[in-house]
Amino acid sequence: MAARCSIAFMVMASCLSVVVSGGLPGDLFAHSVASKLRVDRDTTARASSDFGRIVAAAPEAVLHPATPVDIAELVRFSASSPSPFPVAPRGQGHSARGQSLAPGGVVVDMRALAARRGRVNVSAGGAGAAPYVDAGGEQLWAEVLRATLEHGLAPRVWTDYLRITVAGTLSNAGIGGQAFRHGPQITNVLELDVITGRGDMVTCSRDKEPDLFFAVLGGLGQFGIITRARIGLEPAPKRVRWVRLAYSDVVTFTRDQELLISKRASEAGFDYVEGQVQLNRTLTEGPKSTPFFSRFDIDRLVGLASESVSGVIYFIEGAMYYNESTTASVDQKLTSVLEQLSFDKCFVFTKDVSYVQFLDRVREEERILRSIGMWDVPHPWLNLFVPQSRILDFDTGVLKGVFVGANPVGVILMYPMNRNMWDDRMTAVSGNDDMFYVVGLLRSAVVPGDVERLERENEAVLAFCDNEGIGCKQYLPHYASQDEWRSHFGPKWSRVTELKVKYDPYGILSPGQRIFSSLT
Ligand code: FAD
Repeated sequence: MAARCSIAFMVMASCLSVVVSGGLPGDLFAHSVASKLRVDRDTTARASSDFGRIVAAAPEAVLHPATPVDIAELVRFSASSPSPFPVAPRGQGHSARGQSLAPGGVVVDMRALAARRGRVNVSAGGAGAAPYVDAGGEQLWAEVLRATLEHGLAPRVWTDYLRITVAGTLSNAGIGGQAFRHGPQITNVLELDVITGRGDMVTCSRDKEPDLFFAVLGGLGQFGIITRARIGLEPAPKRVRWVRLAYSDVVTFTRDQELLISKRASEAGFDYVEGQVQLNRTLTEGPKSTPFFSRFDIDRLVGLASESVSGVIYFIEGAMYYNESTTASVDQKLTSVLEQLSFDKCFVFTKDVSYVQFLDRVREEERILRSIGMWDVPHPWLNLFVPQSRILDFDTGVLKGVFVGANPVGVILMYPMNRNMWDDRMTAVSGNDDMFYVVGLLRSAVVPGDVERLERENEAVLAFCDNEGIGCKQYLPHYASQDEWRSHFGPKWSRVTELKVKYDPYGILSPGQRIFSSLT
């Protein structure tokens, strides 16, 4: 007999709410995976929200798999049930819009697999073979880094934050300051183990089961559950010259960023290029010092911002890798790169840190935010890919338009990427134009009413982009209707629906993305 109950899939802290019915067949609890299912309220409550703290929906149960076979059995059970129930793999639950939730179904706590030894294995290469790591989908990037560094190796592309899982980022794309040169993390994957929505366990790569491989990379969890990823490695540097260059003028800022990621400059330039925007009020009312900037630096930056008409200033963040033996040449290289750039005179800030300190830099910010109660707050984040040809319009309309008077607590990222480093066969959606900007409006809601206000501002940003025909794409996307999803995927939409029918015909996987309300 099917034990059924309904569940509220609602948007917290706002007036929106959608109710979805669900429940689990009673005979699931007689199945061999039953001993790994938890239904107590503490466990289901932990799996019912995410980093965003905007959406909440409790699953009926949480699976703590001991091996990938447990996951395959659960999915197979659902797929063969008269009323298939949703199954959502959850990595760290660091999504912002409920993407890892499974209202009325089962959340698979992927991190349970990390308790097993031997889920990260490095092949150091040699004799013509390139090095790689086989990492469980549940592994944190910080864990992958630790394991690969034991061999003097590391993946090429990193997200800014390392306490998120390999499969969680590969389900999106995995972008960061190295992606202009090496592409997003998904383009650095060599092979995957995947459990499809039918419960089949499949190994896939560019040559073997390529449809599944390209579907799953950037596939928002819709086509399969990644249990292992083979990722290419390179020799890891030991140290990093980490630089921030301040600009009061957006035209110079974007021109320099684009130069830095162009082929000509990138070969001899920074190994990492990102950028940030600071609105005047963030500087004057924000922290008086940060892990990067001293109090004195902030005072100087406030001065720079007050000299600019808009009060907005920009930073290029660059990093140059080196080893002890190449210390002299990194100084020369840095000097020659800086000579080509036009940042505001005297506004160059440099740090010298270990490679690990650099990659794990957000950890320090996390510690600070946790200590002042500002980490576990709602995060109505909006991430956009803005075509290079319209970035100045976006700057005028949003940063100096919608955001005038705003006091965004959080970070605004703005940096360019090369589209040719993305593989269009993957379901991941990149930006328009050969070069496009990542704009991350990573704001936190800290006082009552902030969520609604920030959401209204997000809507105003999207409306501006629509009205002006900017051609933005969302990264870590979320939409309210299938029409919007169709438009998000553009020419890939029909392929995406075909792949869904092929690999998840019962519409079981990752319902929190809310792409396919029902395919059954
Ligand atoms: P979850 O939130 O648990 O899951 C995300 C989605 O993937 C869900 O739909 C889930 O069902 C699915 N999923 C999870 N595990 C699997 C699996 N094994 N197989 C298939 N699907 C799966 N992103 C970047 O690209 N670059 C950044 O620099 C970056 N910085 C960030 C910094 C912070 C502080 C935070 C909170 C997020 C950041 N992100 C960044 C976003 C992050 O990459 C995504 O939110 C990612 O999904 C988080 O991973 P997770 O393990 O928490 O995934």
